[in-house]
Amino acid sequence: MSRLVPLRPDLTGLSGYHSAQVDVQVRLNTNESPLPPPDAWLEELRSELSRVDFNRYPDRDAHALRQALGEFHGVGPEEVFCAKGSNEVLQCLLLAYGGSGRCAALFEPTYALHRHIASLTATEVASIWRAADYSLDLNEADALVERVRPIITFLCSPNNPTGRAEPPEVVSHLLERAPGLVVVDEAYGQFAPTSALDLRRPERRGTSRLVVVRTFSKTWSMAACRLGYLVGDPEVVEACKSMALPYHLDAVTQMAGRLALRHVAAMEERVALVKEERGRICTALRELPVETWPSDANFVLFRPLKRSAKQVWNDLLEESVLVRDCSEWRGLSECLRVTVGTAKENTRFLTALRSSLGHASTKEHASTTEHAQTTERASTTERAQTTERAQTGKR
Ligand code: PMP
Repeated sequence: MSRLVPLRPDLTGLSGYHSAQVDVQVRLNTNESPLPPPDAWLEELRSELSRVDFNRYPDRDAHALRQALGEFHGVGPEEVFCAKGSNEVLQCLLLAYGGSGRCAALFEPTYALHRHIASLTATEVASIWRAADYSLDLNEADALVERVRPIITFLCSPNNPTGRAEPPEVVSHLLERAPGLVVVDEAYGQFAPTSALDLRRPERRGTSRLVVVRTFSKTWSMAACRLGYLVGDPEVVEACKSMALPYHLDAVTQMAGRLALRHVAAMEERVALVKEERGRICTALRELPVETWPSDANFVLFRPLKRSAKQVWNDLLEESVLVRDCSEWRGLSECLRVTVGTAKENTRFLTALRSSLGHASTKEHASTTEHAQTTERASTTERAQTTERAQTGKR
């Protein structure tokens, strides 16, 4: 293609990172929360909005938000950096520590944005492939970090799109071996049994090089707001602050995040519902002709065995169910990824999948059982909402 002005030569051929946004009834392709944020949060936000000085720039340091996040994690505000989504946090880290002549290490297949942002910041990428079960071979990981001496080693835990959380021993091991920052992307951290945050201790060797990245987009039901953050050493926080554009985090987002932290119980209820539904999807998938992997996140990876991923993806779309087609991503041949939705959405997905895989005969039985489960879950959701209303005095 002839261009008006030539692009940076190292970026030729690079395209943006997107997920198909099709107008469907059941959207299970981008790992968002299927439930809206709590009503009480929305009310508080509405009321505080009237106090925003819209003619003024926001607090450049997002101090109140960082203070609240610090309290939430038991650290000081100087150990927290906030940005517009965890993607911007990752970008600031790579701007500060990556760049020409420096290398980032990662373990494929993993979240594509780690490699993508590394390329945008002219950071070299060195990677190895995970095993067939998508676990990490530590001998191979050691050899990689020994060979390339990465300035940043990325781990994604739970790993998107494969689903498994990295055991704490793996994170500790890499902290021992990798010379630079070990950045653990915990966008789905609350769905997992362990967190790298528990490894951060001043007395533990190397843990000041540990950086944990989190987001409000998933568990906090706030993807529209674009808010992410990292917990790390104050030196890393300062470095990231100097990379961010002035006033990058607007006043409304700062406020939304600060207020969300008053609703931890509601967030935890949502996480519990998603985990319960994840269990139901995993059990159902095990009875179908698909290969599937265990998940510690709010999504499940699977590979249809009797029909191609593309055919199944299309069949689901015909039923107005959208999942993520990963079948052309390296290391994920013929794989699809489904985000855990509401009980009703998951039932729609499973019914459509059974029909696509020719398992419609079990459908009757399954849909009856699922109907009962859905009703049970709907009442659990209602109970959760009632508790929330009772707590806030709202009817
Ligand atoms: N990290 C991982 C592993 C993700 O899957 C995502 C979202 N797809 C992000 C970070 C970015 O999330 P956000 O920018 O919405 O915070």
